[in-house]
Amino acid sequence: MKLANCNQCGAVYVENPQGLCLNCLREEEEAEDKVAGFLREKDRASLEDIHQGTGVKYKIILRMLKRGRISSNAVIEYPCETCGSLISEGRICENCSNNITQQIKHEEWRRQVDTKPKPKDDGKVRPRLHIKDLLDNK
Ligand SMILES: [Zn+2]
Ligand SMILES: [Zn+2]
Repeated sequence: MKLANCNQCGAVYVENPQGLCLNCLREEEEAEDKVAGFLREKDRASLEDIHQGTGVKYKIILRMLKRGRISSNAVIEYPCETCGSLISEGRICENCSNNITQQIKHEEWRRQVDTKPKPKDDGKVRPRLHIKDLLDNK
């Protein structure tokens, strides 16, 4: 048995795959029921709609979405983690994922070019751009 801190309220609990203590787990189950009930009559809803309609916190709705706990035929729109535009699947929008793919390709290409002129590696760690920095400079 391993103890851990609850991801939600920080209380110490016996670790489980959900990462939540029993109180929070029960709260989340209730929230899931509310959200499922709300979505039954919808075929499309944004995070805002669900929040308004059920009173469930954004954070909890998002976590349910990410864990695939919301089973519904409704299309649920929520913000892209990078730019905030509305998406209904994955974690980031198409634009951002294209951007990131481009940047990664570019990085790879540059690394290849970098290493060509001097085949002897000096062993130094090259500073690497973080994806966030790249996006901020957009
Ligand atoms: Zn908790
Ligand atoms: Zn985006």
